[in-house]
Amino acid sequence: MTKDIYVLIEHVQGKVADISYIMLAAARELAEGTGGEVVGILLGHEAQGLAETLAADKVLYGDHPALAEFTPDAYQKVLEKLIPEKEPRAVLFGSTTIGADVVGTLSSQLDIPLVDSCVSVSADSNVISQICGGKIMVESALEGTTSFIAMIPGHYKVESGQSDAGPEVTPIELPALDDLRVTLRQYIEPEIGDVDITQEDVLIGVGRGIQTEDNIEWIEELADLLGAEICASRPIVDQGWLPTSRMVGKSGQSVKPKLYLSLGISGAPEHVEGMAGSEMVIAVNMDPDAPIFDVAKYGVEFDLFDLIDPLMDKIEETS
Ligand SMILES: Cc1cc2nc3c(=O)[nH]c(=O)nc-3n(C[C@H](O)[C@H](O)[C@H](O)COP(=O)(O)OP(=O)(O)OC[C@H]3O[C@@H](n4cnc5c(N)ncnc54)[C@H](O)[C@@H]3O)c2cc1C
Repeated sequence: MTKDIYVLIEHVQGKVADISYIMLAAARELAEGTGGEVVGILLGHEAQGLAETLAADKVLYGDHPALAEFTPDAYQKVLEKLIPEKEPRAVLFGSTTIGADVVGTLSSQLDIPLVDSCVSVSADSNVISQICGGKIMVESALEGTTSFIAMIPGHYKVESGQSDAGPEVTPIELPALDDLRVTLRQYIEPEIGDVDITQEDVLIGVGRGIQTEDNIEWIEELADLLGAEICASRPIVDQGWLPTSRMVGKSGQSVKPKLYLSLGISGAPEHVEGMAGSEMVIAVNMDPDAPIFDVAKYGVEFDLFDLIDPLMDKIEETS
């Protein structure tokens, strides 16, 4: 077993996903404890240039036309060969659509333990993870040989995993990738709808805490005053209160506004995945243990029904 910490680099349509940088930052912390290197695993086709911004000591690069776009089938085949050969101390995956598509099966096939929904790690190889949608935090020690960790965003900054130093890139030998059961036929862009929330500077995210559909109109008044657009957690969209194009998270859009004002959203990992890249998050929630406070710069432990009207009065007074 080596002391190295590996990171599966996620990229979509020629762009490294933020979760990859977040994982590199976490991997650096683990590697400080093990005394090993941070190693990126980059799989793609003519995609070596994506390694340039990664804050890794080195990058293992697998190039093949079948890896041009992510498929669980091709990624699993490559990783099933690579990981037992290299025996890293730990491998970090995103607790994302891509990561979830490979890590569970790999964990079972290679008989390697997996810590899911991991928020942070420490140099003494302890990891903090969420269960029950973030309502309970668990501390686990990485024992044995290799471990898998599936990371959720929030704790580490994207910039901490970026570097312009350009890591050493080493090609890897790939297994046969000619009998794949899954291939990508078409990439479908998410529907934009009336407003493209991915382009907005100020967003108000509403969650189940707003209680009824009628209250959306009330929050829209606040949005008008702040020059903001409204987006939502999945239950709000599932109930038909707002269109799918306004949903933030794993099943919706990833947003990066300058300000994300979260109202009555608990901060489940599937939601945080889509908004953790916001420059500033202000969260209003009555529950002091709501996981949204872990990603918020400012947290307001308050009943939103007692807050919104006085807040609107204050904004009107000062504008
Ligand atoms: C495969 C999969 C994909 C998913 N994809 C997504 C996705 O893309 N996006 C997404 O959002 N979710 C997604 N989910 C659902 C996700 O797991 C959560 O269930 C969801 O995010 C919870 O939404 P919420 O925070 O609005 O509701 P809840 O978790 O019910 O939270 C409501 C919050 O409001 C607070 N609150 C209640 N009343 C008040 C008040 N008066 N004032 C202040 N605070 C109050 C409560 O304390 C609570 O924290 C997905 C789930 C799965 C399994």
